[in-house]
Amino acid sequence: MLRLYTHSACLKHDPGAFHVERPARLRAILEALDHDRYAALERIEAPRVTREALLRVHEATHVDEVLRGAPPGAPYALDADTWLDADSPQAALRAAGAVTAAVDAVLDGQCQRAFCAVRPPGHHATRDEAMGFCLFNNIAVGAAHALAAHGLRRVAIADFDVHHGNGTQAIFASERRVLFASSHQSPLYPGTGDEAERGVGNIVNGTLPPGAGSAEFRALWSELLLPRLYAFRPQLVLVSAGFDGHRRDPLADLQLDREDYAWISAQLLALARAHADGRLVSTLEGGYDLPALADSVCAHVSALME
Ligand SMILES: [Zn+2]
Repeated sequence: MLRLYTHSACLKHDPGAFHVERPARLRAILEALDHDRYAALERIEAPRVTREALLRVHEATHVDEVLRGAPPGAPYALDADTWLDADSPQAALRAAGAVTAAVDAVLDGQCQRAFCAVRPPGHHATRDEAMGFCLFNNIAVGAAHALAAHGLRRVAIADFDVHHGNGTQAIFASERRVLFASSHQSPLYPGTGDEAERGVGNIVNGTLPPGAGSAEFRALWSELLLPRLYAFRPQLVLVSAGFDGHRRDPLADLQLDREDYAWISAQLLALARAHADGRLVSTLEGGYDLPALADSVCAHVSALME
């Protein structure tokens, strides 16, 4: 059984008419999932994350800055491309709250798997800074919650967004209970994620050159990232699911398509079944071409419903 966590507040955070990380992304996804094929999805309204859960991975000053938001009609930039408006605090609370609630649900046995259709995304946010469209690091909040509230000893985070999840890596660089495995285009924003960045042996970075496609992506996961994930024997598989490696995406230069997202999703589900009693929580990161994003999310969700 796959649960879908989302919330209408995630449609309100609006970085501006010309910003690629826009409410229409989530609207396109929810419309595509509003189809008989996905009737079996159990749809859950995401709760707000608790302050306690946020403070496991973020500095209080950062949490407070995001939660203050911006005055109505006066959004402002936290970095060159990360905006805060009056609706951002509620969106950020629900986005991180979706992941912690989904972690609770799979670990309490209410469901086996969950996909969080939320925004803003999270994997670039560090302990003390918003960046790259990200306010709170949703997947890191979820992983820390699994460790602290459920006592897990091995949590894997697989990140197939086209950008490196620098925030997630930085937050867990010395946390041996978390294995972070990422594929990403290099060179590309944010410039981190070199294969030599290994944390305390718990960080595995795999890079793809601009123009790389299906064969290179699948080889990287099959030969480097998946073997490390299997060797780690995770008790829970978390996924930073970004779809901006799609050939139509405007922000990067990979040549992936929906079949590649179906493939990696099935691979990560097989990993969860092998070691984690099938427990998997995925959350939306990037993906900026609306039809490609909606189609890729459908491929991801369909694979996780198998
Ligand atoms: Zn991305």
